[in-house]
Amino acid sequence: MGEGQKQGHPAYLWWNGERVRWEDATVHVTDLGWSTVGGVFEGIRAYWDDRAGELSVFRLQEHLDRLVRSMKLVRLPLDYSVAALTDAIVDLLRVNDVREDTYIRPMGYAGNTTGKRFAQVGGESHVLINTHPMASHLLTGLQYKAKISSWHRIGEDTMPPRVKNFSNYRNGQLASQEARLDGYDTAFLLDRDGKVTEAPGACVALIRGNQLITPDLTSGILESITRDALLVLAREVLGLDVVERRVDRTELYVADEVFTCGTAAEITPVVEIDHYPVGDGAIGPKTRELERVFHDVLRGREDRYAGWRTPVGVAVPA
Ligand SMILES: *Cc1c(COP(=O)(O)O)cnc(C)c1O
Repeated sequence: MGEGQKQGHPAYLWWNGERVRWEDATVHVTDLGWSTVGGVFEGIRAYWDDRAGELSVFRLQEHLDRLVRSMKLVRLPLDYSVAALTDAIVDLLRVNDVREDTYIRPMGYAGNTTGKRFAQVGGESHVLINTHPMASHLLTGLQYKAKISSWHRIGEDTMPPRVKNFSNYRNGQLASQEARLDGYDTAFLLDRDGKVTEAPGACVALIRGNQLITPDLTSGILESITRDALLVLAREVLGLDVVERRVDRTELYVADEVFTCGTAAEITPVVEIDHYPVGDGAIGPKTRELERVFHDVLRGREDRYAGWRTPVGVAVPA
């Protein structure tokens, strides 16, 4: 465990091109407010493999490629290459001596916003990368009850749904808070046509017979990297027919199995929706199988998808 981790935080983070000690990474309080309205981020996970004593980052390149697209869409210049950001992340995990499941969050935001209004174009952007421990809940039996939210998902006509913009999260936050106050664990947001989009911060898939069905990329969803990986595993390992299309609300009610997915959500089985049991109201067999396969891929116990992992090299040779 790294020096800083003992104090509840890693010793270092990466900020605007440099490794910076945690306690030195401060901004002035008047910078709060507008700086992250147009800000974007990535949520990436690294998994610790006990057997090999190695930490691996999942689909690092894809996450950083998406950060480039997100920055473009919010018109923030990105002054670092994907290669430089990759090196920064690997260096950070090494110098912090990370040996546990960890969340990595690169973010780009408007720098020096003190005294400025919100609609600046061409201002300077700052980039921060920080990490914190985040244990996996795969194969722990975690399961959610969901409601259909009274809030609709943002759409192409309001906010760009496909990128990780902080402001987009207000939409999911409203749905999440409503769901929890109403006694559920999560929510599904519909679009204005009543079609299924996402859960807050996570995509949605349902299983019916031998089909895995999920809203397509023009259904107002985020371009999820986990969703993409799970579609590959469902097709290639489980032998399911994968269908990407518009999804009706009532398809969720009559599905055999439903789960949400994302970097934070991993795979989270949903066993009840609006008080309808999903299937027989327990985690279904195909979801269980997909969780097992995904777990093995993430932890490096399945060689077929090794290209999705970036080994950090914290393993110390004996
Ligand atoms: C990050 C995110 C997801 C999941 O995307 P992953 O790339 O799988 O982590 C889904 N929905 C929203 C709104 C998100 O921000």
